[in-house]
Amino acid sequence: MGGNEMSYVQEAYDTNWVAPLGPNVNEFEKALEVYTNSDHASALNSGTSAIHLALILLGVGPGDEVIAQSFTFSATINPICYLGAVPVLIDSEVDTWNMCPEALKRAIEDRIRKGKKPKAILPVHLYGMPAKMQEIREVANFYSIPIVEDAAEALGSSLNGKKMGAWGEFGVLSFNGNKIITTSGGGALLSNDKKMIEKSRFLATQARDEAPHYQHSTIGYNYRMSNIVAGIGRGQMEVLTERVNRRREINSWYKKMLKDIPGLVFHSEPNSDYYSNFWLTAILIDPLKAKGITREMVRLSLEKEHIESRPLWKPMHLQPIFEDCPFYGTGVSERLFEEGLCLPSGSNLSENEMQRISISLKKLF
Ligand SMILES: *Cc1c(COP(=O)(O)O)cnc(C)c1O
Repeated sequence: MGGNEMSYVQEAYDTNWVAPLGPNVNEFEKALEVYTNSDHASALNSGTSAIHLALILLGVGPGDEVIAQSFTFSATINPICYLGAVPVLIDSEVDTWNMCPEALKRAIEDRIRKGKKPKAILPVHLYGMPAKMQEIREVANFYSIPIVEDAAEALGSSLNGKKMGAWGEFGVLSFNGNKIITTSGGGALLSNDKKMIEKSRFLATQARDEAPHYQHSTIGYNYRMSNIVAGIGRGQMEVLTERVNRRREINSWYKKMLKDIPGLVFHSEPNSDYYSNFWLTAILIDPLKAKGITREMVRLSLEKEHIESRPLWKPMHLQPIFEDCPFYGTGVSERLFEEGLCLPSGSNLSENEMQRISISLKKLF
């Protein structure tokens, strides 16, 4: 926590705004709009709900196809399945580790040839690294397919000065406990389309028609953020820049410490157009070049010192539940999964903890 969260939560208590709406929700939404330079933000109870609502608003239904990045967390893909639609999975490219624009183009052409034009494209900015949005935007525009940008890990990142979350027809943010800022759990849907955001609020509050009684003409959801939780969000927005700076500092620290190790590659900004929040610092270890040291050897040697690190996301096309989905490969994400590791990257890493990580890594290498 940053410090002011409790005062906003207290305000909610004192004014008895203990509800899934209220002044904290309004102010948190305003802060998100200003920060991301989006016209509208709708605060929700999770990033997953935001993806679900975006797909509903784009008219995705049973039997439809939705294109999504394979190298991601399952929450990107699950909402496609909630709607009875089929995920079409796209592999990554080597520069950003995110959706490959060429594989995307190949997939769209193939799906159209097979008789179905995909309803939406879901790129992800993993570990805070912006995907190649200009190229993805071009492909999406060419085929007139809307983009739902999964920026759950990328609040504070930008590409060409434009914040992630503001590149798609819809942008999705998450404030889950592990993200760069948190409300304990929560999310937001961003868009420049006022009507769509109004509709998202309507759907997220049980789809009540305007009437003095309870009247419903469509299926609703209970997805709004509570005014208590939004109080935490308001406080967190005040320290977001500080948190991004800290994560970037930790990333630089790792880069400096491990710079001369052969076979070790960092997840890095391809050029100065890219600005990552470096939510997590991730590395690849090629055992052929690293004197036989593997990703698992690094992970286990850290674990021996009670330091947690984790393999990168296991691509969705390798997951038992999604292995039958159409997949357009480049070979990249499989290698990322095999050789990749997320290093301890929390904003609150102490000097003492960093010292312990450093000793352990240096000993192994
Ligand atoms: C965390 C995350 C989500 C889901 O957000 P929740 O708020 O936990 O529902 C979606 N996509 C990615 C890439 C994430 O990391």
